Amino acid sequence: MPQQEDIFKKLISHCKEYGFVFPSSEIYDGLGAVYDYGQNGVELKNNIKKYWWDSMTLLNENVAGIDSAIFMHPTIWKASGHVDAFNDPLIDNKDSKKRYRADVLIEDQITKYEDKIDKEVEKAAKRFGETFDEQKFRATNSRVLENQSKKDELHTRFAKALNDGDLEELRQIILDYEIVCPISGTKNWTDVRQFNLMFSTEMGSTADGATKIYLRPETAQGIFVNFLNVQKSGRMKIPFGIAQIGKAFRNEIVARQFVFRMREFEQMEMQFFVRPGEELKWFEQWKQTRMKWHKALGLGDKKYRFHDHDKLAHYANAATDIEFEMPFGFKEVEGIHSRTDFDLSSHEKYSGKNIRFFDPELNQSYIPYVIETSIGVDRMFLAILSGSYCEETLENGEMRVVLKIPPVLAPVKLAVLPLVKKDGLPEKAREIRNNLKFDFHCQYDEKDSIGKRYRRQDAIGTPYCITVDHDTLTDHCVTIRYRDTMNQERIPISSLETIIEKKVSMKNLLKQIANV
Ligand code: ATP
Repeated sequence: MPQQEDIFKKLISHCKEYGFVFPSSEIYDGLGAVYDYGQNGVELKNNIKKYWWDSMTLLNENVAGIDSAIFMHPTIWKASGHVDAFNDPLIDNKDSKKRYRADVLIEDQITKYEDKIDKEVEKAAKRFGETFDEQKFRATNSRVLENQSKKDELHTRFAKALNDGDLEELRQIILDYEIVCPISGTKNWTDVRQFNLMFSTEMGSTADGATKIYLRPETAQGIFVNFLNVQKSGRMKIPFGIAQIGKAFRNEIVARQFVFRMREFEQMEMQFFVRPGEELKWFEQWKQTRMKWHKALGLGDKKYRFHDHDKLAHYANAATDIEFEMPFGFKEVEGIHSRTDFDLSSHEKYSGKNIRFFDPELNQSYIPYVIETSIGVDRMFLAILSGSYCEETLENGEMRVVLKIPPVLAPVKLAVLPLVKKDGLPEKAREIRNNLKFDFHCQYDEKDSIGKRYRRQDAIGTPYCITVDHDTLTDHCVTIRYRDTMNQERIPISSLETIIEKKVSMKNLLKQIANV
């Protein structure tokens, strides 16, 4: 098994063992692609949401937050295009009876060519050492060129088929490139069909005439239909943004990648309303702002990249993804889209209400254009965990699993540990915890050896362990142990708050991205 896949499996079981993520309805054998967050998972998730929310609403004086309902008038989904066009192309393998997204099968084939190229480059880099000229190698090596041209050819054909909505051609590509089902290994494919991803339910009793309504597949529409409410009640002027965090639901065809692709998930979306014609300038600006937000977490700049869309959605005139290097390759974590005036115009048409902004500087009314930044909380959660998961061999030969979660996002900030369970040490440790609990999420742990307790805290990513020993009672000092280096220092109890605050403070992180 490739090493990365192995790590992904370990990460999934680690998440369960340490209270981050549990399969939903587990005692009933689970429910496909639905997950529950445990005691540590929910803290990490809340911290991610706070980082995003504060970066939007505190750092930008012209971004306001809302919380709209999940249930909305069904015509909204007609206007947004979701009833008619929120489809994925699905294909079944007749032997394994497994269902796939045709576009994902082809994208995986493209990735295979990319991987082959990367391997050639890696091999050559090792061979040539410091004299290696990567650019020249990529431009001249015959194997690289061959794979590059196969990739480009497939890419062009794929993008055209997607843009034309040509389902037969998608199937033909799968056949021509001899893409096989990963389970059965065969090429026995059905036709490609469109599959609508929205869940529906009924509102009201049947006697009254129940209405078919949808569980929202994105939070964005709740923002569009409240555009005028927020603009008027907040006396907002263009440009301004509306941010929202909330659940979204999609009946995903293939849902096999843990919390990466779920049927019930959470989004953090911000729609930024701008003057028509200025959208591409703002698109560029939000791309940079969002990338900075990600990189400030310190997981490594190389783990992120932009990926521009081949197929623009029916509403967009520019779109890019921020991808993160997951254990299963670079994958989309966030989408940034220039959505034109599609949504507001369409709501104006379907609702019959005027949804325009009077711009006093231009002395004219218009439907604003929109830049959207849309990130999945759960994918961000997975990015953080995969970027933090480390297995290390210690000097004594033991292995430790440590989650090097950015301290500001860590579920527990510090653990207070009495060296022994007697002689007044537990009382002293509790006193320290009680003084710090108003500022930080703290844990108290007195069970097992100190080594075992450190391991438990490493496994959930706690940045600091504070050990209380006999000397503490007289010198008022404790030992602080740092998660990543495992270094230990003796420090006065009175300095704990300042030391911990420095690394775990949301304020410091926000200042970093705000250029203060
Ligand atoms: P994909 O191509 O992977 O299906 P998408 O392009 O349809 O994603 P968007 O509609 O742009 O995704 O949604 C914005 C964000 O919402 C995504 O970047 C992702 O982080 C998150 N998201 C979308 N679908 C899911 C899902 N099924 N499970 C978890 N997160 C999701």
